[in-house]
Amino acid sequence: MTGNRPAVDCDVLVVGGGLAGLACAAALGARGLRVTLLESRNRLGGRASSFRDAQTGEWLDNCQHVSLGCCTNFTRFCQAVGIDRFFHREDELIFIGPQGTRHVFAASSLPAPLHLAPAFAGLSYLSWSDRWHLSRGLRLLAGTRPEHLEGIPFDRWLAGQRQPPQVIELFWHVVLVSALSETVDRLDAAHARKVFVDAFLTNRAGWEVWLPTVPLERLYGEELQGWLQQHGVTVRLNAGVRGIASVEGKPVVTLRDGTTQSAARLVLAVPSHLVPEMAPDLATQWGAPEGPGQIETAPISSVHLWYDREITPDRHVTFVGQTSQWLFNRERIQGRPASSGSAAPGWYGQVVISASHQAASRPAQETIETVTGELARLLPGAREARLVRARMVTEHRAVIAVLPGADRYRPGVRTEVPGLYLAGDWVQTGWPSTMEGAVRSGWLAAEAVLADAGRGDSLVVPDLPVSRLSKWLLRL
Ligand SMILES: Cc1cc2nc3c(=O)[nH]c(=O)nc-3n(C[C@H](O)[C@H](O)[C@H](O)COP(=O)(O)OP(=O)(O)OC[C@H]3O[C@@H](n4cnc5c(N)ncnc54)[C@H](O)[C@@H]3O)c2cc1C
Repeated sequence: MTGNRPAVDCDVLVVGGGLAGLACAAALGARGLRVTLLESRNRLGGRASSFRDAQTGEWLDNCQHVSLGCCTNFTRFCQAVGIDRFFHREDELIFIGPQGTRHVFAASSLPAPLHLAPAFAGLSYLSWSDRWHLSRGLRLLAGTRPEHLEGIPFDRWLAGQRQPPQVIELFWHVVLVSALSETVDRLDAAHARKVFVDAFLTNRAGWEVWLPTVPLERLYGEELQGWLQQHGVTVRLNAGVRGIASVEGKPVVTLRDGTTQSAARLVLAVPSHLVPEMAPDLATQWGAPEGPGQIETAPISSVHLWYDREITPDRHVTFVGQTSQWLFNRERIQGRPASSGSAAPGWYGQVVISASHQAASRPAQETIETVTGELARLLPGAREARLVRARMVTEHRAVIAVLPGADRYRPGVRTEVPGLYLAGDWVQTGWPSTMEGAVRSGWLAAEAVLADAGRGDSLVVPDLPVSRLSKWLLRL
């Protein structure tokens, strides 16, 4: 790094082309700022991206990404950049109970928070007494202030409310492991409450599942990249940043190829574990042992499966009490009849295993056999079909782990270093590590940049409104 003051190359440098950096760059570019986005890889999307399958040449998502109706900022972002047309709203979920019973989970016409009561009542793999305990547990959880839950392991809270073990295993665990990629013994109870309140109890739309109907590469690599370029954002791929320093109050980056680039302001939107090395100036702000280096992460695995024919007509299935948690019928989701068009053999689907600590630590073949064995036991179509090919992909640092008390390590978007801001699903947004959390963080950083440039634009949109009945019944 030279000590001479370099010319400022643009108004804002955004380092990292995941959803946080993309949302930030899009917001600032749309407001007329000169923005350059630096991404180390050869494509955008970060942890929400695709890879080219060597055998078929197709784009496969690293893992199926799901958004919910309560993710208001992610939804608004997709609308703002014109990619919302590539999402489909699923109006029912299919649960397969431990013994293979099929349950359709859909909203009734009742207002929130009662809209899902008939669906919960229909989960007949739980006894009536278990369903009563579950409904009581949901009411108690909603009725507890989040500040009284912070730092408490959720399994301890559940035990305190006398939730039976089978209700914990077959309900609380099933929902939370998918939503937060952690097991109930490792989860902060305040984050667990947020999932149930936001998705199930506040508003009729909160639980709705939104699935992309095209590969993530098309969404972020093609459509969004085109949108950014049309809006004056310079996108530089293969532009890995080695370090960031402050020169006379202005952030300057050194790229891996040795060149430098400077800006009036810089938003660092890379995963938390990379920050201490890239921006050593921040160490004084955080000091040991605080700081993002303390943030733990959790793995998510996806098992990509090709069968010689379709194994279920359902677009997606949630398994209760299995290693396999979700099955996504990619052919149906992408609107592609089985065996048509693609070079892939027959039918392609994905099984997702969140909090896959165990699966990630043993040979992939063992997990593939477990998963295909479960499918054959639970889905008649999978018994008749022949498995042609299977491949497991594990993202070891998929999401940050919302362990009890871990939020204290999550910094805000502002830093003490002049002109340097942070974004990413790990900064303090009130949200877990999700696409919603990433977009929120990007917009919070963009709001801070705009405010410091003397502009008062507000970007973050509010949560879904709380229904009148939820306010009255649950005091939400
Ligand atoms: C397997 C898996 C499944 C998931 N499922 C869901 C889901 O269903 N729903 C949901 O809401 N969320 C899901 N998530 C979480 C979601 O993908 C993340 O929360 C979100 O994408 C994080 O975005 P981000 O921008 O904060 O970080 P990232 O996506 O990690 O982006 C950071 C970017 O910085 C770049 N970078 C790193 N170092 C440098 C450098 N030196 N110079 C320049 N650039 C650099 C990286 O290449 C990357 O593109 C899942 C994540 C995974 C991994």
